[in-house]
Amino acid sequence: MDKNQIKEEIIKLKKQRDAVIVAHNYQVDDVQEVSDVIGDSLALSKYCANNSKKVILFCGVDFMAESAKILSPEKKVLLPEKDAGCPMADMVTAEALREEKKKHPGAVVVCYINSSAHVKAESDICCTSSNAIDVVKSIKEKDILFVPDQNLGSYVAKMVPEKNIILWKGFCITHHRVKVEEVSKVRELHPDALLLVHPECQKDVVDAADFVGSTKQIIDYAKSSSNQKYIIGTEMGVLYKLKRDNPDKTFYLLSPGLICPNMKKTSLNSVYNALNEMKYEINLDEEVRIKAKRSLDRMLQI
Ligand code: SF4
Repeated sequence: MDKNQIKEEIIKLKKQRDAVIVAHNYQVDDVQEVSDVIGDSLALSKYCANNSKKVILFCGVDFMAESAKILSPEKKVLLPEKDAGCPMADMVTAEALREEKKKHPGAVVVCYINSSAHVKAESDICCTSSNAIDVVKSIKEKDILFVPDQNLGSYVAKMVPEKNIILWKGFCITHHRVKVEEVSKVRELHPDALLLVHPECQKDVVDAADFVGSTKQIIDYAKSSSNQKYIIGTEMGVLYKLKRDNPDKTFYLLSPGLICPNMKKTSLNSVYNALNEMKYEINLDEEVRIKAKRSLDRMLQI
């Protein structure tokens, strides 16, 4: 089948299966095109929970599909590529977290949504890159154990200096490799462009930015700002929506290394196969799911 035939088949299957297709901002353009909604992991999980379809096809990585399942246990949640995982989420396990908690008995555990259901279940509250500062500010205790992203954690520590933030040493392999030297080079090439950076980048890159925010905040900022040119310091998939929504503006990628190999595993073919064969289903232990939901719910109350 050619690309257009696959797209037609996906639309037919979607109806037959009573499915909704959701895609993370970092997915390849073709997958974003066939999706019902594009967004960040939390926005997509909330969208799925409020949607009446029986099947959720989550085009992203495993922890995102798990979050959808945590919030929508009655639905069938499918991840099109079984091996689409997140190396940063894998840098903390529930067992290692339990050990670390023993070293900091009074600390509140804040876990970035980029973590497994088991780690969420061991945590007190979740956060996203959009709300991490508000989540930490809402906690009355001074000591916070922040897992797994050291870069997001150190950005939060800078913005909320009254807290003692204990950092886990995890990082996003895609954002962490951007070097501040690349910022200088791109700034020289495009002196009239604003630099918008994700807080998963290292501190010196974040410090050099004109704006720091999650993918959604970057998309919203570029839309509302009157500037014409932007250097984008997050995964390249976000360019699809930025260009689609702002055809009169120009976007440059901060670094050619801003590609997440796991996010690029999902293709039109995998979306088609997933709907055709109803694979790969996400299943969670109910006890873990309930505990993980507590951490998500506490965040959602803020
Ligand atoms: S971009 Fe980074 S945090 Fe996001 S899925 Fe890829 S490795 Fe994980």
